[in-house]
Amino acid sequence: MAVCTGCSLLCEDIEVALKTGAIEKAKNLCRKGQGHFQALFSDRTVPSVEGGETSLDQAIEKAANILMNAKDPLLYGWSNSSLEAQKVGIELAKKLEAKIDDTSSFCQGQLLERVLKGELPSCTLDDVRNFADVSVFWGADPSNSHPRHLSRFSYYPRGSKRQKGYEEERNCVVIDVRKSSTAKLCSDYFRIPPGGDAEFAEAIIAILDGKMPRFGDKKRMIGLASIFKKADFGAIFPGLGLVYSLVQKMEIFENLVARLNDVSNYKVVPMVGHYNMRGFNELMLDETGYINQISFKNGVHHGSENSVTMAAKSSDACLVVGSDPLSALPFVIARSLAKSQLVVIDPRRSLTTDAAKVVIPSAMSGLESGGKAVRMDGVRISFEPIFESNLLSDEEILTRIMEAI
Ligand code: SF4
Repeated sequence: MAVCTGCSLLCEDIEVALKTGAIEKAKNLCRKGQGHFQALFSDRTVPSVEGGETSLDQAIEKAANILMNAKDPLLYGWSNSSLEAQKVGIELAKKLEAKIDDTSSFCQGQLLERVLKGELPSCTLDDVRNFADVSVFWGADPSNSHPRHLSRFSYYPRGSKRQKGYEEERNCVVIDVRKSSTAKLCSDYFRIPPGGDAEFAEAIIAILDGKMPRFGDKKRMIGLASIFKKADFGAIFPGLGLVYSLVQKMEIFENLVARLNDVSNYKVVPMVGHYNMRGFNELMLDETGYINQISFKNGVHHGSENSVTMAAKSSDACLVVGSDPLSALPFVIARSLAKSQLVVIDPRRSLTTDAAKVVIPSAMSGLESGGKAVRMDGVRISFEPIFESNLLSDEEILTRIMEAI
């Protein structure tokens, strides 16, 4: 059995057979996973310096040189690397007295930090499968982002206390600005206007407090509050839609979860995207007391000035591991990053590798290299390589850069 690292569900039941340059047969792989495995065969990187192909040794030597001589280096990415590679990355940041940050900085970090610090109650996805009778997808569309979420854990499966599954025993509620693919499958869908998440949460709190809601269709809102109250075990899965909408008002969501726990039992599992973002955040919390946005210059300093969005403007060199910030970040930040000396470790070609001064090809985690990762719910998953490769893992490349510095 193989583990798919296509998303943070880290499905462990994958069976796959290859023929030359393609997947011949695959079992249990969703369409997103198919694309992830198929990526083995296209757009692979080669070692390069200043756009010219070179040897791996020379690329590593040049990378070490750039990072060693940088005045204000930034180390970024990490969410698509194994725990072992992330650990070496944090040690490298300490050695360089660099800034270090990951993708959680501008996505699920706010919520994940609350979960990791015990400020929001959480549970495993196995608990959801076994016990949950209400699943709430809020600003999340797992049918596209985590295609096997509903079938493995949150809606369709039979669990130890949920033998009748979705037909009789589970409610699935989607709160979103549009009728997403998930909303079309679930039992209840509530459309909210963009930015309407706070008002929606406040309306549910008002009903739980015995007041009339001032938002949406009153009858439907009261019906939803009734579903929430009657639940034995509810799981809320917040996606980026909720995170971006609440930004500085996350306490409203915390209040709602607290009120729901006054009347029933509710847990929160943030819909982390990348396969090991949570792993990096857990390691950073253990190491520094914060999940991201750290500078190791003369000690440990946390703050938004160390986030990729701020640090990109001041850093003179940036090591990017398994990420494509030039595609993902706003243009102004991407432009600043592109102007710095970019060193990229990545198995596949991207806009960021195309702009990099140094590119170091790596093995694809879970396919060509093994390791451990943390699933979106905090469960640790080990994986072995399933295809032979001469490429080094992220961990091995980072170790060699460390040794060269
Ligand atoms: S749900 Fe995610 S981990 Fe599971 S097979 Fe699909 S992409 Fe891979």
